[in-house]
Amino acid sequence: MKKKKECPNCATEIPKDSKVCYICGYEFPQREAKSKIFWIAGFILLILFVLSLARILFSILR
Ligand SMILES: [Zn+2]
Repeated sequence: MKKKKECPNCATEIPKDSKVCYICGYEFPQREAKSKIFWIAGFILLILFVLSLARILFSILR
């Protein structure tokens, strides 16, 4: 595996762990964006879980 990535702005290969392109100064999006999606997905799953749990509870009570 290469430890380099291509800058989407100037197509220069830069080290994979660098956050900013040293040629054009392009800032790579941080992992926060990815974890945000995970948080949203987890939140939706939690809501679905609670809803199904509530459904089960209601069916038991009736
Ligand atoms: Zn660049």
